[in-house]
Amino acid sequence: MSSIADHLLAVRARLERAVLDCGRDPKQVRLIAVSKTFPAEAVREAYRAGQRAFGESYVQEAVEKLSRLQDLRPDTEWHFIGPLQSNKAKHVAAHFDWVHSIDRLKIAQRLSDLRPAGAAALQLCIQVNIDAQPTKSGVAPEDALDLALAVQALPRLRLRGLMCIPAPQKDPREQREVFARLANLMHDLNRAGLQLDTLSMGMSDDLEAAVAAGATVVRVGTAIFGARPPVSAQPHSSPSSELT
Ligand SMILES: *Cc1c(COP(=O)(O)O)cnc(C)c1O
Repeated sequence: MSSIADHLLAVRARLERAVLDCGRDPKQVRLIAVSKTFPAEAVREAYRAGQRAFGESYVQEAVEKLSRLQDLRPDTEWHFIGPLQSNKAKHVAAHFDWVHSIDRLKIAQRLSDLRPAGAAALQLCIQVNIDAQPTKSGVAPEDALDLALAVQALPRLRLRGLMCIPAPQKDPREQREVFARLANLMHDLNRAGLQLDTLSMGMSDDLEAAVAAGATVVRVGTAIFGARPPVSAQPHSSPSSELT
């Protein structure tokens, strides 16, 4: 068995234990395998081990990888989880099933305009800067309702929920406290009339805390595919090298 298959088994076991430990139903939490920086062959290995949902963060890298995975495309689901500039929206609208990183209306409008007419609605999450990090993307929690109402009105999109990437923390209780804020925010938005069902939160180092706080989707890269090179050494991290 490949090491990716081994790692996937271990992550699924971790996830299932986390879900059962807090009395939830394993069917309520989905695993996205974050394959950014890893080649198409790594995705194939994960696919052979039963994985169907994948996450990518860099538009050009993702488009090139997907072109090598056309045979798997009908049977897989692709989630764009990285920062999105409006000049790349065309590619994301054409190739992805989900976008988790909506943090301004302009991007959602571009995706709505550019989503191919025959395609299923593009599923969206609004990214929230839940722990007020100065350099992170994401809408402020107090602005999430207005953005959600505006996004919800756009055609060819379906707003599903909220996403966050909190600063790394060692203490599981503090991790859980931050994730619980995103869960509470979703409840507030639903009380205000939205119908959100997706909380995209939790990564390799904090998925247990995210599940305990109500995550319905966890996005796991390192624990499945291994360590990534530092961002500065990644081929597609520089905006100038990306397609437009
Ligand atoms: C890279 C990335 C992940 C995966 O992080 P790991 O710590 O490698 O599991 C999850 N979510 C987002 C938005 C990412 O960019």
